[in-house]
Amino acid sequence: MGDVNIGVKLTLPVQKPEKAILVISDGIGDRPVSVLNGKTPLEAAMKPTLDTLAAKGATGLLHVLSPGIPPGSDTGHLSLFGYDARDCYTGRGPFEALGAGLDLEPTDIAFRGNFASAILTKDENFEVVDRRAGRHLPEGAELAKLINGLKVPSFPKVRVIVDHTVEHRCVLVLRGAGLSSSISDTDPHGHSNFVLSSMPLDETPEAEKTAQIVNTVTREFYRILKDSPINAKRKKAGLPEANIVLLRGAGILPEIPSLKDIYEISTACVAGGALYKGVARSVGMDILTVQGATASYDTDVEAKAKAAAKALKTHDYVFLHFKPTDSAAHDKDPKKKIAMIEKFDHLVKTLIELIDMDHTHIAITADHTTATTNGQHTGDPVPLLMVGPTVRNDDVLEFSERACAKGGLGQILGMAVMPMLMSALDRSPMFGA
Ligand code: ZN
Ligand code: ZN
Repeated sequence: MGDVNIGVKLTLPVQKPEKAILVISDGIGDRPVSVLNGKTPLEAAMKPTLDTLAAKGATGLLHVLSPGIPPGSDTGHLSLFGYDARDCYTGRGPFEALGAGLDLEPTDIAFRGNFASAILTKDENFEVVDRRAGRHLPEGAELAKLINGLKVPSFPKVRVIVDHTVEHRCVLVLRGAGLSSSISDTDPHGHSNFVLSSMPLDETPEAEKTAQIVNTVTREFYRILKDSPINAKRKKAGLPEANIVLLRGAGILPEIPSLKDIYEISTACVAGGALYKGVARSVGMDILTVQGATASYDTDVEAKAKAAAKALKTHDYVFLHFKPTDSAAHDKDPKKKIAMIEKFDHLVKTLIELIDMDHTHIAITADHTTATTNGQHTGDPVPLLMVGPTVRNDDVLEFSERACAKGGLGQILGMAVMPMLMSALDRSPMFGA
């Protein structure tokens, strides 16, 4: 630490910059589970690091959107970054596309997609055999290349852009004038066995035209993919063919002021999944690439913790995302969720060993509850833990839903986390005079 000379007799120490990190364990909150004797997975897990931090810091419960409203991962993260999702949310597709590394133009329509297995019925409908084409799809990038740039003769001015993200997932972007995101999904979401026709959701010619394009490209994608050598190989190996793309979440690029504009800070994101990178990119974060960050159960938590600690040296604020707690809950597997919470504890342990705790403010929470009892996101609040040099610690000794309900932070809204972190850094702008 150096000194600044501000006069003959008086010197002030140069302040080390204060940093903030938001650590999200996706869907870590849960409900009491009968096979865990009424405990939640978080209460049943061994998580010494999280408990130690709870004892050092302040805790509370977070209503990520508002009490009782189940958040999506997209709206949940927007709230945790300090935005009112009701004002700026335009659909999931654009976030997935941004997270895949695509640059969106203001008039683009972006969708998220699944490579899926379907058969063409006699009456020319597509019957879905497997919504995820087996989920494990190492040929995803090659399949996306086959349909990327497809020319649609009836709409020659529309560009069709397809990119693979992870597993069976991909994104589609339609680029051209006069398009609309006001159209329905082709993905039946498990409610029907058939690929749906996209329909306009308003009376505009733009919505009508876009729905027609989506239905045309869906058929064309099938025509190309069904005869591809990749699918011939998969068929031979007894694997589900990835011969169709189910589309959902049409949206345009949201107009969101960046965190830099609001707080004058530099920000970075360490995440495996395209959606989280996409939401982070939409608010102006630098997206860091980390080898082994897969967003799956096998994600490399040490690599992620190291990358986040390194990013804190060059950025004021870092967002670190861990996905598998949510996946285990969607799989309705409490034992797996406990194992993933313990993996998350190891991530946090690795992280705090690498950072300067005297100058770093940490918030640990989730974007929503994902209940292992029903496999769904629910409106139950999530535990929140804040630790750092300015935090007034409370008497809570454990990081769990019930323990944090007694914490000093009380019950607050998700949108408050970002201003609270920025206040700890003395970067929250004053309201009033
Ligand atoms: Zn989530
Ligand atoms: Zn989820």
